[in-house]
Amino acid sequence: MSPLPPLVGLETARLDWTTNEAGQASPLSTRFDDVYFSRHEGRAETEHVFLTGNDLPRRFAGWQADRPFVIGETGFGTGLNLLCAWACFDAHASSDARLHLVSTERYPLSRDELERALSAWPDLARRAGCLIRQWPEPVAGVHRLWLDKRVTLDLHFGDAAERLALLEGRVDAWFLDGFAPSKNPEMWRPELFAAMAARSRPGASFATFTCAGVVKRGLAEAGFSWRKVPGIGRKREMLAGDIASPPADTRRERAPWFTPPPPRPTRHVAVIGAGIAGASAAASLARRGVAVTLIDRFDRAELGTTHLQGALYVKLAVETNLQSRAYLAGLLYSRRWLAHLDPQQALWRPSGVLQLALSEKDQARQASFLANHPLPESVVSRLDAESASLAAGIRVEAPALDYPNAAWVKPLELCAHLARTPGVGFRRGEVTELVGGEAGWTLTLAGGERIEADQVVVATASEAARFDQTAALPLQPVRGQVSQLALPEGAPALGRVICAGGYVPPAADGVLNFGATYAPGDTDPAEREEDHAANLAELERGLPHFVAALRQAGAGLSPQQLTGRVGVRAASPDKSPYCGPVPDTEAWQEDYAALAKDATRVTHIPGRHHQGLWISAAHGSRGLASAPLCAELIASRICDEPLPLEWPLVDHLHPGRRVIRDLIRGQHPAS
Ligand code: SAM
Repeated sequence: MSPLPPLVGLETARLDWTTNEAGQASPLSTRFDDVYFSRHEGRAETEHVFLTGNDLPRRFAGWQADRPFVIGETGFGTGLNLLCAWACFDAHASSDARLHLVSTERYPLSRDELERALSAWPDLARRAGCLIRQWPEPVAGVHRLWLDKRVTLDLHFGDAAERLALLEGRVDAWFLDGFAPSKNPEMWRPELFAAMAARSRPGASFATFTCAGVVKRGLAEAGFSWRKVPGIGRKREMLAGDIASPPADTRRERAPWFTPPPPRPTRHVAVIGAGIAGASAAASLARRGVAVTLIDRFDRAELGTTHLQGALYVKLAVETNLQSRAYLAGLLYSRRWLAHLDPQQALWRPSGVLQLALSEKDQARQASFLANHPLPESVVSRLDAESASLAAGIRVEAPALDYPNAAWVKPLELCAHLARTPGVGFRRGEVTELVGGEAGWTLTLAGGERIEADQVVVATASEAARFDQTAALPLQPVRGQVSQLALPEGAPALGRVICAGGYVPPAADGVLNFGATYAPGDTDPAEREEDHAANLAELERGLPHFVAALRQAGAGLSPQQLTGRVGVRAASPDKSPYCGPVPDTEAWQEDYAALAKDATRVTHIPGRHHQGLWISAAHGSRGLASAPLCAELIASRICDEPLPLEWPLVDHLHPGRRVIRDLIRGQHPAS
């Protein structure tokens, strides 16, 4: 059984609004019959209970660690507590310190409600604006937001106890918020306190407004010590305390191979490959203050990606599986990330994506998918052919799934932009060898030059096979050719990216890009006429009226007239990316050899890895959806901070998964 709750849209908050004597609107939950913050002294209460209760001004001022200070919260609500914590951090912490906020929320407010609630605090307006702009869709799961250069927020949408049990990361200070235990007994249950304890750093503190017996008992049973301290306003007392020795993390007992390698001090990381996987990893690390050398065999102007337009889009399985969860999380993350990275939309367009269902079988699949995944319409919905035609801007004859917030991207320009992130040094060069030692890694370039780095991220798609350490990971090259057509005057314009067999985004700079072919095992870089013919046939199959209108407008639509670009992507056998630490395959074969005889014979040895070596690869043709989130995952691991995915998804993406599968099936890895 999956440890993950269903992949669904969440019920949102149910609110009433009241106005205090200062004219500030404040929300009240009609579901819980309780207030989000005190109508009279909301700010003072937050500051007293959660900030002072956790001794944050003093702790922030003294924070010297390489990793960020981590706050965990049980009910995000309007975000007031965490915005105040952010302001307190800015006021007290040194300029190179970082803050990581993790908060759970079962009934998220809508964006408008959030804006209304936070308008009560004009001095928080800049911070509130940042949160409101990135406010995620109400979908169960983890949503990472970049609040500013040194502050990250992970919103874990769903029940607090469930979500904290899925959190991969540890917390320094807890804000134990949520409506009063008498009004919300379901949240304040033993599992919540147990999950908090298991996700605590040694010495982690907590503070809460309540002194209810159930809370005192629950905290004590989970290993926290508590004391009553003076409250504020009408609440005379509250609780604060800490946990000296949190319990060990036992979640990986059944799969010890996925135990992450311990963090190591890191000043400089080399990233090999400047396509979307490498360039986004470089940017994620640089944002955390790590010096990055980004190396690619191509020049900055033609960084390791070939296509001029790519669709930010995913294909989700009818039945929920880990791969679909990871891809949907990636899609939602990439969309937020693009809007934050490039608000002017020079590198991307939020056009939306229509996935046509051309056959009855496809239509049945789409219907079952939606029945299994009741997601908000802002994420995905079903359109009949007429509505699909309206969205597409041209006549389509099939119903479709509509992803109104999906997008198209200029991958080449995006990668070049990421490579210019402050803190990233771009180097042209071909890395031929990697040698790891106690102190770090030495990279040898084709000319013999050497580069030293504390850690290395390999992001060279199928060419990862050239390095000894990554050669055993099965990666298949997949050639893809995109066709290009310069549009004549009067050509019809598409309103969405349209996917059927292939994909076609709205034209950019007067050129229509469409394709792509998918040829596993083929690495030939030369453009082929027959591939243009195949792309054209696919375009006509999905969009016959569009192609007819293009012809009528005089477009040169024959394979001989088309130009194109060829790229080689990489795919793993199970079509999920490889993202994480590189396993020492030989050690795994030795340590877990018993699995070959009996898949239940788990040897409890933590997975041995090539310390300080990471891979982000096998993104196939969906790298725009998967690579930016994988970049954050790797950067978060390297910088010892909470991860932006639930632990079962982190394990699902682990590059060693095939080694174990092959051992169980009695196959030699990479055979
Ligand atoms: N910290 C908030 C702020 O700064 O605005 C106020 C929190 S409000 C008093 C309580 C929040 O807990 C609500 O947003 C509510 O939806 C959420 N909540 C209630 N039960 C929950 C549960 N079981 N898991 C996660 N969140 C829950």
